Amino acid sequence: MALLTKAPRGTADILPESAALYRFLEDRFIETATAYGFREIRTPVFEHTELFNRSVGETTDVVQKEMYTFNDNGGRSITLRPEGTAGVARAVLEHGLTGDAMPLKLFYITSCYRYEKPQAGRLREFHQFGVEYFGSEDPAADAETIALADGFLSSLEIGDYSLRINSIGCPACRAEYHKALKGYFEKNLDRMCGNCRERFGRNPMRLLDCKVPECHEIAAGAPSILDYLCDGCRAHFTGVQRQLNVLEIPFEIDPHIVRGLDYYTRTVFEFVSDALGAQATVCGGGRYDGLLQELGGKPVPALGFGMGEERLRLIYENARPENDELLPETDVYLIAADDAAKDTVTRTVNDLRRCGMNAERDVCGRSVKAQMKYAGRLGANFTMILGGDELAKGFAAIRNMKTGETGTLPLKDLASEILIYIGDYYLSQLDGEDDGPDEPSARSAPENAPGLTVLRGGKDE
Ligand code: ATP
Ligand code: MG
Repeated sequence: MALLTKAPRGTADILPESAALYRFLEDRFIETATAYGFREIRTPVFEHTELFNRSVGETTDVVQKEMYTFNDNGGRSITLRPEGTAGVARAVLEHGLTGDAMPLKLFYITSCYRYEKPQAGRLREFHQFGVEYFGSEDPAADAETIALADGFLSSLEIGDYSLRINSIGCPACRAEYHKALKGYFEKNLDRMCGNCRERFGRNPMRLLDCKVPECHEIAAGAPSILDYLCDGCRAHFTGVQRQLNVLEIPFEIDPHIVRGLDYYTRTVFEFVSDALGAQATVCGGGRYDGLLQELGGKPVPALGFGMGEERLRLIYENARPENDELLPETDVYLIAADDAAKDTVTRTVNDLRRCGMNAERDVCGRSVKAQMKYAGRLGANFTMILGGDELAKGFAAIRNMKTGETGTLPLKDLASEILIYIGDYYLSQLDGEDDGPDEPSARSAPENAPGLTVLRGGKDE
């Protein structure tokens, strides 16, 4: 019954070591998004299939072949969300959120589902951080959204990544461009891959970002959207670049960025990292000024991005192979040397836990020696052995497992005594850090992202 002990293809269990890293990334993302004035929204894992057909677009790979769609017992066609924007846009319309003071700035952390060929950084169930920004057409909103993603990525100190931006215009200028593009690819189609030939009819812009080397070469010679932008879209794109310069965020213009979903207009952008190999894009986003109207609402300009958490994890682990410091530490392990001390150990451990301390004791009937060994395996910072002798004397020794130092604590109010003893040690560690030599801390801004020093820093901040 291998099916019982094997997760479905393309899914991954996130075990405690990895979960600690995910939690760290999520907390940092929430901090950054909150600082930029975004508030959290949570929407259902599944929606009516029609929502994605409409918003993501019938001609996209996602709708054509990647969705998890099924009929529920009531005969409705339901789809597991393949991305975050559609559900948020639907919720915004359903609850009339755009009626309030604009802009409306929302973020989410969400699981997504796509039937894809699994490989490193590409799963069938994956997770996204995302933001959606409604109600501003101003290039400043585009730059602010990009600045959030950049601020978050740079705060992780994961080495080089780059930002590429493009404008894919509005439906008006894109119509002209499509003609030019079709004319160009038509001549070269017989040398392009099956995927491209198939996409040619329904979505010719997707041929621009095909990863097959031969196609890539052909795409390099294709007409550029930037030569076809109407005056409004051209001015908008210039505005975005100006704003990014104001924020001192470096970027490259890449006319081949088109994004896979139909709803994008004007600004599109990607953050890419070399650490990711073929799956280079860690974050993709852009403007979707037509989406809310497409879903039956009033026209409301909007934009956002989605960032792949699994890919972020790969980059993080690549930059910092040793990230076990993210796992919670066991502060203290209490050992009962005999039955007489068991109740004291049980009560003290519970009291310590209620004070927020990570305290442990044995529940497997281990010998004292085995308990010591187990405390070592947990990496407990402190241990204390309690037995009849200690109970009689009213004192017990606490040992710092990192330094070997010991102290003697009274058993009266033992939990408080332990708390103070360990607390003092942790404080002295922090003081020591302040006095020590300057670490190459993020407080000095690296050249690639000036202006973001405030958001930088290690996990101990
Ligand atoms: P790609 O071209 O790599 O397939 P995409 O354009 O389909 O990406 P988006 O729809 O823009 O991706 O999703 C935003 C981000 O979500 C991507 O940049 C990526 O980091 C992540 N992502 C997308 N699909 C997957 C997947 N199947 N597994 C893991 N992460 C994914
Ligand atoms: Mg994709």
